[in-house]
Amino acid sequence: MRKQIAAANWKMNLTYQQGAELLKTILSADISLNENQIALFAVPFPYLELANDTVHQKKNYYAAAQNCSDKKSGAYTGEISAEMLKSLDVPYCLVGHSERREYFGETNEILSGKVAICLTYGLTPVFCCGEALKIRDQNAQNSFVEQQLRESLFHLSAEQILNVVIAYEPIWAIGTGKTASTAQAQEMHAFIRSVLQKQFGKEVAGQISILYGGSVKANNAKELFACPDVDGGLVGGASLVASDFMEIIRALK
Ligand code: PEP
Repeated sequence: MRKQIAAANWKMNLTYQQGAELLKTILSADISLNENQIALFAVPFPYLELANDTVHQKKNYYAAAQNCSDKKSGAYTGEISAEMLKSLDVPYCLVGHSERREYFGETNEILSGKVAICLTYGLTPVFCCGEALKIRDQNAQNSFVEQQLRESLFHLSAEQILNVVIAYEPIWAIGTGKTASTAQAQEMHAFIRSVLQKQFGKEVAGQISILYGGSVKANNAKELFACPDVDGGLVGGASLVASDFMEIIRALK
């Protein structure tokens, strides 16, 4: 059975002290995850060691980076490599969040390099995809997302793609309070799985976790996660409030 994942994305929020307090509160809650369930915390780079040390107390809780370089190493001031993350024992890394695509010029091609280098160093990339409102208004979301998958993931082998998590995040739903309906989420997730199936086969596609992101809240997570092809969520705003994110973890199938 594929993994069900609640992933927090703190983005560029919280001081070190606030982050430490938030993690402590969430981890001290009486929520035990089963074999199949995972909670991730994608924290700012300087907090990764703290997050890693804190989550190690509990089963299936992990730290994640929010980004990494597509380059191996060298004269790239300000960048963080996959190898550096691995040397800190960070197991997961977000790749291609829409904010990275929009504000930092990350293209499908650059992201294919980021996915590859994560896998080379044994990190699990959480590959983000999703369309802007303009694309949905033209009803072109399927071909748009298919192209993102094709250009960033189709160079992988079936064995490699099994180590990738996908997060579908319609841009019009991120940080807007406007959540995709369960029908919209399920329809796109089933479509993504069908695209993966064509490329990698049914058995492989059936094992890949596809998270939904875009205004997941404590009061809508259960309904969204109940969709057959939705395997949890990538959560921004609500992951900054301990009680909300705890409720979202509890909503995992
Ligand atoms: C995100 O940052 O990936 C996200 C989905 O944000 P929010 O939950 O705030 O919409």
